[in-house]
Amino acid sequence: MSLKNSLLLTSSLVFAPTILLAAGAAHAEVPNVVVSIKPIHSLVASIMQGVGEPALIVEGAASPHTYSMKPSNASALEKANVVFWVGHGLEAFLEKPLESLGSKAKLVELDDAPGLEKLKFREGGAFEAHDHGDEHEEGAEGHAHGEAGHHHDEGEFDLHLWLDPANATAMAVEIEKTLAAADPDNAAAYKTNLDALNTRLAALDKTLAETVAPIKDKPFIVFHDAYQYFEHRYQVKVAGSITVSPETLPGAARLKQIHEKIVELGATCVFAEPQFEPKLVNVVLEGTSAKSGTLDPEAATLEAGPDLYFQLMEGIGVSLKTCLSNGS
Ligand SMILES: [Zn+2]
Repeated sequence: MSLKNSLLLTSSLVFAPTILLAAGAAHAEVPNVVVSIKPIHSLVASIMQGVGEPALIVEGAASPHTYSMKPSNASALEKANVVFWVGHGLEAFLEKPLESLGSKAKLVELDDAPGLEKLKFREGGAFEAHDHGDEHEEGAEGHAHGEAGHHHDEGEFDLHLWLDPANATAMAVEIEKTLAAADPDNAAAYKTNLDALNTRLAALDKTLAETVAPIKDKPFIVFHDAYQYFEHRYQVKVAGSITVSPETLPGAARLKQIHEKIVELGATCVFAEPQFEPKLVNVVLEGTSAKSGTLDPEAATLEAGPDLYFQLMEGIGVSLKTCLSNGS
């Protein structure tokens, strides 16, 4: 054996057990964490970076509004120590599965996180058909406003909370607190990651404000009423949504109403979303000078992970700016 080889052998013998021990110690303690939707999963993944990886329920291009549980989701929940979700008003499909978990896992409903700014669903105008008059009108379109439709419960808060980076920070604080309590051995890592995430969120906030500054006064139409938090934070001008509740498709009467709204306001862009019928956008655009763009508020087209949240938010800013600054 050459001197070099024997040195290598010695060093690997010395170091290998140390590495194994360290890795083993960390992994034994890491809880199984399951997260409902991609934007929240991204925040959890950031805080768990270097420690572990959370599992995700609503994967791929699926939307939380129309999701049904898969067997793989059920088994992930069975093994979960901690589950993060936004709340009853958003991931209705999770209510029963979570109830059946009983006390086996720590369930964290993030819409209860301290420090969140919560906005109620808006009603009236081009946004909504919450009140009974409108409801009857929509009834003619052939769908029922059931209690299952999360956008319909009176007085309920809009749970697209993540579309404001300040709310993402409030949720991140709650996520870190939960993880540190469930896994004290890694508390220092969670704290370090939280600090880094918050720094990144503050920078994002600044970037977004700059991105949308030139198009603040230009009204636009969105596919579903998901953007209040973004509007509230950055003062952009959503003039209406094609559908109030993504579980139900809008009927002819509503499409006509939105079309008129575009003409009346001179809305320059109508934004589709990747999960939902682009045809409807073309219908409301017809005969107007408005353009179409795409917004992806639930990250259907993005790959899950720590960067997703930032891609999602920056994507909204850039799409708005691109479409609206080309408008006349
Ligand atoms: Zn939504």
